[in-house]
Amino acid sequence: MASLSLKNICKVYPNGFEAVKDFSLEVEDKEFIIFVGPSGCGKSTTLRMIAGLEEISSGELYIDGKLVNDVEPKDRDIAMVFQNYALYPHMTVFDNMAFGLKLRKVPKDEIKRKVEEAAKILDLEKLLDRKPKALSGGQRQRVAMGRAIVRNPKVFLMDEPLSNLDAKLRVQMRSEISALHHRLGATIIYVTHDQTEAMTLGTRIVVLKDGVIMQVDSPQKLYNEP
Ligand code: ADP
Ligand code: ADP
Repeated sequence: MASLSLKNICKVYPNGFEAVKDFSLEVEDKEFIIFVGPSGCGKSTTLRMIAGLEEISSGELYIDGKLVNDVEPKDRDIAMVFQNYALYPHMTVFDNMAFGLKLRKVPKDEIKRKVEEAAKILDLEKLLDRKPKALSGGQRQRVAMGRAIVRNPKVFLMDEPLSNLDAKLRVQMRSEISALHHRLGATIIYVTHDQTEAMTLGTRIVVLKDGVIMQVDSPQKLYNEP
């Protein structure tokens, strides 16, 4: 269960630049929200504020009705998947997936169980001892997802997770993410430039420009109307 409520959120960077202006959005449990818009329109900044990696300058962020503006990232029950995977090159797949759990002092046997469970879902069972450099792009992306899944978060934030993959893998991973969304029953906010991804994955699409929401609509409405 996770609903999100963003109320009049603004981000002013220390240099005075206003990257996000009066951003308000209600996200229901299990929604798959897509952020689209040109480079620099504030998509990543918004995700980072939701994750707690960037301070909210003004406005309020609620998760399941609880104000979380001042809650530490690790206590927000949110997992983020980045475009560059951010895997540790010197660690095995297992250790990469286990990292966030170790950080939270989860008992060893529980870590093992959770990593193996996620590896099964993502078809990584035979690769747990490998280092990232011995994996394909799609496999690395799965490890990045696995690292998010093991924590069983209420909310997934994904920042162009497929943009480094070739076209064929993108199509494959797209349907895997869709299946994952249903299987985990998670709430997802997903940034993409790809219209097909937005249409096939999203329950609602948020169009941003210069830090302002221009439109919020279903994919059908946004892309199919004359
Ligand atoms: P998007 O993800 O849509 O490409 P970002 O959220 O990364 O956009 O950036 C939004 C705007 O904020 C851009 O104009 C960017 O240059 C600016 N920006 C990002 N980080 C900083 C920062 N630390 N200081 C000042 N401006 C920043
Ligand atoms: P969490 O879900 O708590 O962020 P992660 O395993 O994703 O757990 O990462 C823990 C911390 O390490 C985070 O602050 C993250 O930004 C940072 N981190 C993750 N991967 C890398 C990396 N490859 N290089 C540097 N820092 C990283």
